[in-house]
Amino acid sequence: MNGVEADDLVRRIDGFSRQAREAVEKARSSDDVEALRIRAFGRKDGYLTACLRELPLVRPEERRRVGELANRVKRELEELIERRLTELRGQERQAGRERLDLTLPGRRPALGTVHPLTQVNDEIVRIFMGLGFSVADGPEVESDYNNFEALNIPRDHPARDMQDTFYLSAETLLRTHTSPVQIRTMKETRPPVRIICPGRVYRRDADITHSPMFHQVEGLAVDRGISMGDLKGTLEVFAREMFGERSKIRFRPSFFPFTEPSAEVDVLCFLCAGVGCRVCKSGWLEILGSGMVHPQVLRNVGYDPEAVTGWAFGMGVERIAMLKYGVDDIRLFFENDLGFLTQFV
Ligand SMILES: [Zn+2]
Repeated sequence: MNGVEADDLVRRIDGFSRQAREAVEKARSSDDVEALRIRAFGRKDGYLTACLRELPLVRPEERRRVGELANRVKRELEELIERRLTELRGQERQAGRERLDLTLPGRRPALGTVHPLTQVNDEIVRIFMGLGFSVADGPEVESDYNNFEALNIPRDHPARDMQDTFYLSAETLLRTHTSPVQIRTMKETRPPVRIICPGRVYRRDADITHSPMFHQVEGLAVDRGISMGDLKGTLEVFAREMFGERSKIRFRPSFFPFTEPSAEVDVLCFLCAGVGCRVCKSGWLEILGSGMVHPQVLRNVGYDPEAVTGWAFGMGVERIAMLKYGVDDIRLFFENDLGFLTQFV
């Protein structure tokens, strides 16, 4: 293999160095400088890379001199390129800012929406407040007495099987319905009573239509001469407000230990107007349970069932929301998926 003349290689390195420095200084953009960097140091075709590759062909006693030069040129050129890149990128950022289009619409802050359960709960409360009911509140940790016994459900009563209860101790539990609020209110006030009790309740039950925590709104009216007819009229108004002017309701006989007689209330399916569809099957949707307050419950709170009568109803907010919005899995309400929740504006 032919040797390489040391002086020739030095001349080429010097020559390239001069040209490259000039080109870097004159470059107008960071992209141009990047291109120069590749032309000088590119692994395959870089000019200085190629020069260094020739170094072993230089006579051994001159290799050191040429090698030192090549490395100094390389280092200096790299520093120059870095400095120029910083400079040009700074200018480019500045220019980019000045090119901002001020007519573009701004970024809007994300707005929250009211949770669909809260919306339905508020709507129910609004309707009954309009009918003269006031809102009553009570604790979620209750006594067994207020949750069961006072409501005519003693410990050995088979109805306790209907409600899987979270007990905290033998005497305290997480309320299984908001009915203990009715008991508390009646114990503290004399008739007439007209209240609704919205709130969280708990049962050991979980599937696509049951959640271990869910929301109820119960209503109670006690006064002289209160009848089942008043209950029906009140619920008819509620159904029309909640589900539309053409809503109809029907009563079906049922059983609850705390009401006598008791009735399940259905609303004419607002999805198919009673024709029968996938959701309702029969044309009717069950929305709540109700009945005349059992005389024993009135006695338990110190009322005289000979003097006053009352009715009560209870509905699940989740159930109403599922029917109203066509949601078929109750868990969607509790997963906090914004994609789901922001649909209910
Ligand atoms: Zn239907």
